[in-house]
Amino acid sequence: MLIEKTKHPKAKPVDESKLTFGDLFTDHMVIMEYDEGKGWHDERIVPYGPISLDPAAMILHYGQEVFEGMKAYRAVDGRILLFRPEENFKRLNLSNERLCIPLVDVEKCVELTKEFVNLDKDWIPSAPDTSLYLRPFIFASDPHLGVRPGKHYYFMIIASPVGPYYPEGLDPVKIYVETEFVRAVKGGTGFTKTGGNYASSLKAQAVAKEKHYTQVLWLDGVERKYIEEVGTMNVFFKIDGEIITPSLDGSILGGITRKSAIEILKSWGYKVTERKISIDELAKAYDDGKLEEAFGTGTAAVISPIGHLNWGDKKIMEINNGKIGEVSQRLYDTLTGIQWGKIKDTFGWTVEVK
Ligand SMILES: *Cc1c(COP(=O)(O)O)cnc(C)c1O
Repeated sequence: MLIEKTKHPKAKPVDESKLTFGDLFTDHMVIMEYDEGKGWHDERIVPYGPISLDPAAMILHYGQEVFEGMKAYRAVDGRILLFRPEENFKRLNLSNERLCIPLVDVEKCVELTKEFVNLDKDWIPSAPDTSLYLRPFIFASDPHLGVRPGKHYYFMIIASPVGPYYPEGLDPVKIYVETEFVRAVKGGTGFTKTGGNYASSLKAQAVAKEKHYTQVLWLDGVERKYIEEVGTMNVFFKIDGEIITPSLDGSILGGITRKSAIEILKSWGYKVTERKISIDELAKAYDDGKLEEAFGTGTAAVISPIGHLNWGDKKIMEINNGKIGEVSQRLYDTLTGIQWGKIKDTFGWTVEVK
């Protein structure tokens, strides 16, 4: 594989404790191309920089794009760890399949990721709660107007040294229950990571922000009743000792953090149930004093406790007195403990880059 090293390395962050999310990028990037009849070819690592696109490039008009989000961690013993990277590329292929984008070779993508992370390893921060966020993405780039799948695609990976996703960090966030806008419906693209899902979520987020809420809780697009997820996180509730999370039914993104949290919780002996749960049921559990915890899970924020839920004029729920719950804290400590190599990875989830 071709590796072209930069001749102009950028200055690295001086104070890693001040890192924000997604504002700074490393010295290099991965590129691979696809042509109809030829398949994926010409994978390379080149200096980070702008790419040139034809104004008729299909991505700009019809949004045929998919992406992933994963992290590389600087372990306490100096090792560099990835967390279940093959899961990300398997999910990328799920998204690809739905968006009529050619599938990628999972093994090859993990190898490319390792090679890239190794080259830019000096960019992996080591301050507490920091990591190197990796963003693989694919888009159609052939110049054509008229709706059809692209014939030429770019696969790229860029990397960003990051701190906490929400400025709140592990402080519980305030969430607005969205009753007007919807994110996804069964049969649509809700289970994929495709740009359009996020473009169409901006409006609800903007309205929630105006009301001083961090994110919205999405309800199902048909009955506006069943809980789906929060912003870019899957959601969990602890009700009367049981952990409940909405089942994946096509409109919810199947998070890798969600999947890992379920396995960890079960290993601790919790009863974890994946099923439909309505906002009315949640409100009822709250009224009965049985809603003990609520939290979101995702690569970017890891675990984000929910301290306050606003369901319009119907109800305000103050969960666990607005403080982080025991399960949320323990899950955060365990997941990040595995990711930063602080505790033994008994699940075999981490992959070392060397
Ligand atoms: C990425 C994402 C998640 C979380 O997935 P992880 O694999 O845990 O990072 C949840 N919901 C949406 C909408 C997402 O885009």
